[in-house]
Amino acid sequence: MDKKSLLSSIPKVDDLLNSEAIKAIQRLYPRAVIMEAIRGTLGETREYILKSREEDLQGYILDEESIVKRVVERSEKLSGRHLRKVINCTGVIIHTNLGRSVLCKEAIEAVADISKSYSNLEYELEEGKRGSRYSHVEEKLVRITGAESAVVVNNNAAAVLLVLSTLCKGREAVVSRGELVEIGGSFRVPEVMEQSGARLVEVGATNRTYLADYEKAISENTGVLLKVHTSNYRILGFTESVPARELVGLARKNDLPLIEDIGSGSFIDLSKYGIDYEPTVQEAVSAGIDIVTFSGDKMLGGPQAGIIVGRKKYVDMIKKNPLTRALRIDKMTLAALEATLMHYVEEERALRNIPTLRMIVESGDSLKSKAKRLSRMLKSQLKDCADINIVQEESQIGGGSMPLEKLPTYAVAVKPRACSVNELEKNLRNAKTPVIVRTQRDNILLDVRTILEDEYTAIRDTLYEVLRGI
Ligand SMILES: *Cc1c(COP(=O)(O)O)cnc(C)c1O
Repeated sequence: MDKKSLLSSIPKVDDLLNSEAIKAIQRLYPRAVIMEAIRGTLGETREYILKSREEDLQGYILDEESIVKRVVERSEKLSGRHLRKVINCTGVIIHTNLGRSVLCKEAIEAVADISKSYSNLEYELEEGKRGSRYSHVEEKLVRITGAESAVVVNNNAAAVLLVLSTLCKGREAVVSRGELVEIGGSFRVPEVMEQSGARLVEVGATNRTYLADYEKAISENTGVLLKVHTSNYRILGFTESVPARELVGLARKNDLPLIEDIGSGSFIDLSKYGIDYEPTVQEAVSAGIDIVTFSGDKMLGGPQAGIIVGRKKYVDMIKKNPLTRALRIDKMTLAALEATLMHYVEEERALRNIPTLRMIVESGDSLKSKAKRLSRMLKSQLKDCADINIVQEESQIGGGSMPLEKLPTYAVAVKPRACSVNELEKNLRNAKTPVIVRTQRDNILLDVRTILEDEYTAIRDTLYEVLRGI
């Protein structure tokens, strides 16, 4: 068929509205949605025909049935949520693109409970007067970290901005050149510092900074000494940096606040589980660092939040900064954060109940038996269309936490017989419940470390649908 006849054979809106399949979905979706889906599908079809070369359209079939199918799919998509659950089979635990930490059960319950009714968010029940939204978590943070005081904001980037804006506006922040890094998602330490009104004084060289470099940079214009965790970035080899605790004396002598952005901020020393040693928040506080900031949804395993702990006199100043109001944390986040913090009364309880921590410390035996279970489930349905094997692999903590740390894990490798591995990866990603996987040569890898207990059947069913649909 030539272009002109193809274009004139595109079904009319009314024809589609009268088709049985579309009549059937009129009970499910609002008319406006269906109309938008029809117009979108027809427009797309017209455009495709117009921009194709005539010879490429030979054999192009334009039947009403396939158009109706596309309208139905489009209506479904238009009326569903855009922000959706996905299954993380990548083995990257704190996956920023996939929402970082999965909340613990108690946090989820707290969010539902607090959002379906009114709450004492800013109300002192005993006194019957206005209270502070920070009171719900401040005492818990103080108890866990040993700091004098605490305040929380939207995320750690906001925390850094707020701290510098309060303690260093119009003055100089002394920071090592090796720590002026970009931490994914265009969070650049120097740019945030600029926004706060602090002036940056870089000391040392990219790979080496000494105590004397900080000392030389201090003048009457200095506002703070700043340490920043380099997170997803490491300089290896000929390097030298000054740990924050060694700057405490210098900061005291010059009566300057010492600030450390530790990024991930763990409350638990995970080195006994074979993870590289990283100073905990408690250690930073007890070393005498005046203000420590960290994220709520990285190693802590809670909701997105920026946590600021430290000396009361500085935290009080931070609380009074009008910027705090602009960066203030929402009640759902507070509910989730409080419930997560409650698990930290006991290390063992935190490791068992907080999904992020549980995934980090999960034993090889447990991972192996999970991989066996998944592989068995997949083999029972898919052995005719794919080769399925258990392989030893490596997971990552992610989220800029410990970039060099590789956690030995088990994954199920699936090698499709009738399609390419890239096609399989793409179709899994576009499935009703998207399954996000890594690929390796001819296989997709399903790392069981980040797969949740109730996701095994969905993975099997999605793989089955996708492999059969190809
Ligand atoms: C991740 C990170 C941030 C940003 O924290 P968000 O909670 O994502 O805003 C800031 N500083 C460091 C060192 C980080 O690792």
